[in-house]
Amino acid sequence: MKFTYKDYENMLEHASKKGYGFGKFNTTLLPNPTIYLRHDADLSPDRAHDMACLEYNLGVKSTYFFMDLSPMYDLYSRKTISIIEHITSMGHSVGRHLTNEQVSQGGLYSFSSIFTTPVFSIHMPHKRYFGNNMLPINTYNDDYFNKALYISDSTGKFRFNDPLEEMDINRNPQIHLSCHPLWYGSGTKRHKIDSILEGRILELREYAKEILC
Ligand SMILES: [Zn+2]
Repeated sequence: MKFTYKDYENMLEHASKKGYGFGKFNTTLLPNPTIYLRHDADLSPDRAHDMACLEYNLGVKSTYFFMDLSPMYDLYSRKTISIIEHITSMGHSVGRHLTNEQVSQGGLYSFSSIFTTPVFSIHMPHKRYFGNNMLPINTYNDDYFNKALYISDSTGKFRFNDPLEEMDINRNPQIHLSCHPLWYGSGTKRHKIDSILEGRILELREYAKEILC
């Protein structure tokens, strides 16, 4: 898999052909063969938006997780809010992507109406949270981390499981698939990160220009 949008689209179509539906994170696993598709917006709301539009065009619904403490984007900026509103209007869910510190300090709940699900994901989670059902519903609880097969593209590759090989409803009726929007598109991994950084620098330049005027 080359992490182009075309490859991503092919993967989703392969899942449907193999008999999977796409489900939202909730209090329990669904009875039918299901892929819980999740996207953590680690660096770029724009890349999350691109992926959400692609999925919408394929009729796929997933869950996007946004950070409220990110050095890369301002969750409450007009731009990010309008992206999140559009993602929600396409039928996707939006939850919080928390740091380990936020989780350990108990900052688990948000009163912001931006988020459409109370389920949260954890950014670079400490292993003590894997399979941990002491927390409110999160993407690493026992259901989504142990009972479902967990597949992630952290670091820009599927290091432990190949999703195409694992999509077999008899062997793996439940799959939690985490795809980070930042890794998808054209060019190398470095190129993808650089283009996100360059876009952010342009935004900050515009912001600074307003102050300088
Ligand atoms: Zn993350």
